[in-house]
This record gives sequence, C-alpha cells and structure tokens, in this order.
Amino acid sequence: MSDQAKIYNTIIIGSGPAGLTAALYAARADLRPLVIAGLNPGGQLMQTTEVENFPGFINGIMGPELMDNMIKQSERFGAEIRQENVQAADFTKQPFKVVTEKGEYSAKTVVIATGADANWLDLPNEQRLRGKGVSACATCDGFFFKGKDVAVIGGGDSAMEEANFLTKFANTVTIVHRRDEFRASRIMLKRARDNAKIKFVSNVTVEDVLGDSRVTGLRVKHNATGQVTDLPVQGVFLAIGHTPNAKLFAAAGVATDAKGYIEVSNTTQTNLPGVFVAGDVRDSRYRQAVSAAGMGCMAALDVEKYLADKD
Ligand code: NAP
Repeated sequence: MSDQAKIYNTIIIGSGPAGLTAALYAARADLRPLVIAGLNPGGQLMQTTEVENFPGFINGIMGPELMDNMIKQSERFGAEIRQENVQAADFTKQPFKVVTEKGEYSAKTVVIATGADANWLDLPNEQRLRGKGVSACATCDGFFFKGKDVAVIGGGDSAMEEANFLTKFANTVTIVHRRDEFRASRIMLKRARDNAKIKFVSNVTVEDVLGDSRVTGLRVKHNATGQVTDLPVQGVFLAIGHTPNAKLFAAAGVATDAKGYIEVSNTTQTNLPGVFVAGDVRDSRYRQAVSAAGMGCMAALDVEKYLADKD
C-alpha cells in the first residue's frame, strides 16, 4: 500500500519538542505515527546555541543536537518522518486528510504541534546578528550576558518579565518601547520600575542593531523629537509577541482564541474530536522546550486513549 493510500493512526504535524515527543510516545505505543516535520525539522531550538535548561544534560546541549537526538529517538521506535510542509487539512470527516506539497495523507487522529514564531522587527542587521547578541528568548540566552548591558524591546508582560529575569545576569537592562504607555500589567510594570538595574527608553522607534561580529549597540529614534541615539548594549532581546502557526488549522475548523492560539477544552483535545494539540501553538505563556515536550507526551497519550475508546 502506498503511503498516501494508507490510513495512519495518527499524523503529527510539526517537529519541535512537542511534535517529536508526541511521536516518541505514539511510536512506543505501536501507533506507527507519521510526522510531517516541515522542510527544516526541529523547530525553534534549531536556531539556538546551547540549551542549558532541558533536564538531563548536566553540561547543556546544543539545540540542533538535542533535536537531532529527538528525531532519531522517535525513529528508533518506528515513527516515520517526512520533510514536507502541510498546506491544507480536512477534519470534517474520517479519515482526516492532511495535504502537503507532495500529496495527501489520511489519519484517524491528528496532533497539531506547529509551534509559534517570535515576532521580529525586520531591522537591517537583526537576523545577521541573531545568536550573536540578538535573541528572542531571555530564558534561553540570558545566562550568556553576565555583566553585560542589554536592551529588551517591547512594552508588554513578556518585556517586563524578561527584563527582570535578565537583571540576574546583566549589568543593566534597558526596556525600549515604542510608546509612553505600557500594555504590561500594573504589577509587572511596577516590578520593572522598582528594579534598580532596569532603565526605560520610551516613545522611540528602533532603527537598527549595531555591530559587526557581535552586537555593540541599538540605534533608536525618538518619535517626538526625531533625535537618534545609539544605546551601547551587547545584547538585544525582542519581546514584541509571538505568532502561533495555527492559521491553516483555524481555516479547517479548529477553534482558536483572540490571539490565534489553538484552544483546548480539556487535556490536549481541540474542539474537534480526534484533533489534538501540543506545544507553543496552544501556549502563549510558558513557551519552553520542556513544557512543549510535556504537552507532546500528553497529546500522544490522549490519542492512544481516543483510539482505544473508539475501537
Ligand atoms: P503583547 O502583550 O502583545 O506585547 C507586545 C509588546 O510589543 C507591546 O508592548 C507592543 O507595543 C510591542 N510591539 C509589538 N509589535 C511591535 C513593533 N512592531 N515594534 C515595536 N514594538 C512592538 O505580548 P507579550 O508581552 O509577549 O505577552 C503575550 C501574552 O502573554 C499577554 O497576554 C501577556 O499578558 C502574557 N504574559 C504573561 C506573563 C505573566 O503574567 N507572567 C508573562 C509574559 C506574558 P504596543 O503596546 O505599542 O502595542
């Protein structure tokens, strides 16, 4: 039987920690899952350097190596991994259909684990200096900025939380925001204002990140006066929100919240029976590799139970 005529027990869409942990558990439950991994498997950790907060690695592990291990571990138990991008899905009737650029696959259940992407500012030098002082994850990279001066861009709760977190390591943290008003909750804002290491630069537009091989500064322009200032910082953390990769599934009837994250009623079940979700595509709050992996495990256990109940 060709792969496209086959009805899989489960198709897992996405190959970050959530998808690959779901794949590992589903494979070990003998469900022979198909993982549609995207064209660049591994998710957001492929873009990080050292991961020091994934339990079990005393000296840390490089993000790409961790993801490569997860791929091999799930394959060892029979997960089938395809580097294809999902383009459409039909969850209106059984078996569910998932369409990629290579064809159409059928399954009794689907786990959506497509993650979320950090929003970037599209500054001229932002991507070039990513991993060289520019980061979108203070929890992941803050440790590398011991004794340095850093900037956090954004005015929401993430910006406040990340700025506070960064003061554990950094010498100073400058919160750079585009308005004078902050959307962060009052308590988070107060905590940042009360922290002697945190400074605020508001009502500015960020023009660029400066530096050749590493970040040396951040260029901002005051919105009222037009004055351009170069802030001397060695780290720049973006905290301007995330975009969950859920649009395609929303179009297929999966319920999302006001910010576009997939909603779960109970456990990992979406509003559509047989369609489960795990990881950052449903989580705007924790966004950690380990919490995503935990949800992937939960989703696979939910799939197993769903299939057992149906049979
Ligand atoms: P957010 O609330 O959407 O805030 C994003 C911030 O980035 C805003 O201040 C926004 O400015 C700014 N921004 C967006 N696009 C920008 C651009 N192109 N240029 C410059 N600035 C830009 O996102 P978040 O802070 O990540 O929070 C997401 C959700 O998680 C929120 O509901 C938040 O409450 C929650 N959260 C909670 C906690 C906690 O309770 N411990 C911690 C973190 C996050 P404007 O204000 O001008 O729009």
